[in-house]
Amino acid sequence: MRYLSTRGHDTGRSFTEVLLKGLADDGGLFLPETWPSLSREQIDSFTGRPYAEVAQAVVAPFIGDEIPADILREMCKAAYRRFAHPATAPLTQVGPTDWLLELSHGPTLAFKDFAMLLLGQLFEHVLGEKNERLTIVGATSGDTGAAAIEALRGLANVNVFILHPEGRVSETQRRMMTCVHEANIHNIAVQGTFDDCQALVKEMFADETFRAEIGMGAINSINWARIMAQAVYYFTSATSLGGPARAFSYVVPTGNFGDIFAGYVAKRMGLPMDVLCVATNANDILVRTLDAGTYLPQETVRTVSPSMDIQVSSNFERLISEALGRDSGAVAHLMRDLKQTGAFTLSDNILASIREEFAAYAASEPECESMMGRVCDLTGRLIDPHTAVGLVAAEKARASGRISGPAVTLSTAHPAKFPDAVEAATGKRPELPAGLQDLFEREERFSVLPNDLAIMKQHILSAS
Ligand SMILES: *Cc1c(COP(=O)(O)O)cnc(C)c1O
Repeated sequence: MRYLSTRGHDTGRSFTEVLLKGLADDGGLFLPETWPSLSREQIDSFTGRPYAEVAQAVVAPFIGDEIPADILREMCKAAYRRFAHPATAPLTQVGPTDWLLELSHGPTLAFKDFAMLLLGQLFEHVLGEKNERLTIVGATSGDTGAAAIEALRGLANVNVFILHPEGRVSETQRRMMTCVHEANIHNIAVQGTFDDCQALVKEMFADETFRAEIGMGAINSINWARIMAQAVYYFTSATSLGGPARAFSYVVPTGNFGDIFAGYVAKRMGLPMDVLCVATNANDILVRTLDAGTYLPQETVRTVSPSMDIQVSSNFERLISEALGRDSGAVAHLMRDLKQTGAFTLSDNILASIREEFAAYAASEPECESMMGRVCDLTGRLIDPHTAVGLVAAEKARASGRISGPAVTLSTAHPAKFPDAVEAATGKRPELPAGLQDLFEREERFSVLPNDLAIMKQHILSAS
């Protein structure tokens, strides 16, 4: 499989190159040249198979012959062995035709473990073979950082710098990152928002000299390998509910458009799917874009679902590239508009083609809180605020007629990651699962830095 950039000037890349580079040289995001397709029979055969086996079958075509099948099998086994539930990604029914897909049984209690644990395996193998070192620099709104740190701690060939917005991640999220003491792990609290952190990482990437000097790689959801790994649970969930004979809508709590783009990938690979529904909190740039066609980042507002407090939704560029028929000149043009004017506008027919496959709804803070309360009252179940945003969107999609058949809402985090918000909404304080119960007694380690590119680069250079 070969990869090309959404902006057209970086082409013919191998999977390994794309894995290690993250962002393309022209600032675009990598996409496979063509979508591999799985037959009905192949998808059917996933029913009842262990998660790791389905994972291998789904990701193999994206890797091609770059990693031998038996090694890939062992990587998938090692990655998904670390989940606390025997089904890895179990489903629970929450309405007559509504299910939650529980993606919170990994070591850091959010869906990002699915991609990151596989990424850790891939990095270790590929860097070992090439005898190279990599410095990962990543921005996190809370969950990516913890998952990356957990997956990469102690690896010999990888140094990890994770930037989080100071005071804007929950204490549980922060401690999952800062209480890890392996020498290859470095945490930085940035005096700014998540979008500031992401902008710093993007600028460091854009600086070729700096990038070469530290051997910089990416673990943010711009990294293609993460998207690929996340396509897997769309297949396992659909087949355990009667797919591919039956098509589902998926409702996905969305920030950077990574997880929902993985659903789109599963669909392009042949999984029958109804609507893909974006769910956002008050940071509703994607809802506004799908409503009116203008992508206009605004000031980020703080919500109780901090992992989605995002106004610059990086992976949306991948969807735009698809909607524009991979016209890289047109994509580059829109991205130039965004840089120069702070916004871009999609033409009516492009917007219409996106709307055929995607819907988008936002949940306000009171709606999110009341959903947590209602689910608790009705079922005794505690859900996290991101999942609640998903359920609010699912309800709105049904009320407006956009979703009428069976639907799966992705439950992206464990309630114990956001105990204050959950307790405020339900009166019950969720407990951390076994293994994490001493988290608040552990010692933290992190640096606090201003939102300043030069200072950040200096810090990373001197520590790597
Ligand atoms: C990262 C995250 C999201 C958003 O996922 P994207 O891939 O950025 O759209 C939603 N919920 C939780 C809990 C997350 O950690």
